[in-house]
Amino acid sequence: MTSSITLGRRRMLSLAAVSATVFAAPALWTRPARAFDHPALPYDDSALEPVISAHTVGLHYGRHHAGYFRNLNRLTEGTALAELSLEEAVQASSGIPSLQPVFNNAGQAWNHVVYWDQFVPGGPSAPEGRLAGMIDETFGDLETFKEQFVSTAGSVFGSGWAWLTYHAGQLWLEGLRNADNPLAHGRTALIGIDVWEHAYYLDYENRRGEHVRAVLDSLINWSVVADRLPS
Ligand code: MN
Repeated sequence: MTSSITLGRRRMLSLAAVSATVFAAPALWTRPARAFDHPALPYDDSALEPVISAHTVGLHYGRHHAGYFRNLNRLTEGTALAELSLEEAVQASSGIPSLQPVFNNAGQAWNHVVYWDQFVPGGPSAPEGRLAGMIDETFGDLETFKEQFVSTAGSVFGSGWAWLTYHAGQLWLEGLRNADNPLAHGRTALIGIDVWEHAYYLDYENRRGEHVRAVLDSLINWSVVADRLPS
C-alpha cells in the first residue's frame, strides 16, 4: 500500500480526490463503521462545577453533542462527505443550501469540541505572553475584553455562539447564529462559548451574561487558547 491510496479522514483530501482514490483502490479501502467519532469528554462531568453543573455537562455532552455526531453520520453515510475530517466537512458544507443540515450538525459537532477542550482543568487562569499582549493591544485590558465578550454573547439573538477569533493578524469578537463558526469563514477560533439555552438554562435560567462571565473568569484554560493561535 502506498501513501497515495491510504485513506484516512484526517488527510487533506478534496471531494474530487476522495472520489478518485476510492474509485482507484476499492479493494484496499474499508468504510469505517462511523465516519465521525464523538471525542471523549477530557474530564469528569463534575469538573466544571460550580460554574457549570455536572447535570448540565452530562446532558450537554451526552445528549446534545452526541446527537450532532449521530445526525452528521446519518446525513453523510454513503457520501464522499463521510470520508472528510470534521473540519473539512464543516468547510465543504458551509454556504451550500442543500447541505445546510450537514453544516448544522458538522458545525455543532466541531464547535463543541472547541468548547470542551478549552475547559481542560489545570491551565493558567489568565492569558500569558503573546496572547496577553494581543488582548491588551486589541481591547485595552483583560477586564474590558471580558466585558466586550459578554456583550457580544448578549447580542446573539436566539441560539448561537460567542467567539474570540484570530484573523488578518489580530483578534476579533464575533457573535454567530446557530451552528455558524469561524472555521466556515476561514478564521481561527480561539475561544467559543455556547449561548444556546441548553448550555446554561438549568444552572443560570435566563442569565446568559452571568453564565458567560463566570465561564471567562473561572473555566478557560488559557494555555489551550494560546496554543490555538497561529505562530
Ligand atoms: Mn451546545
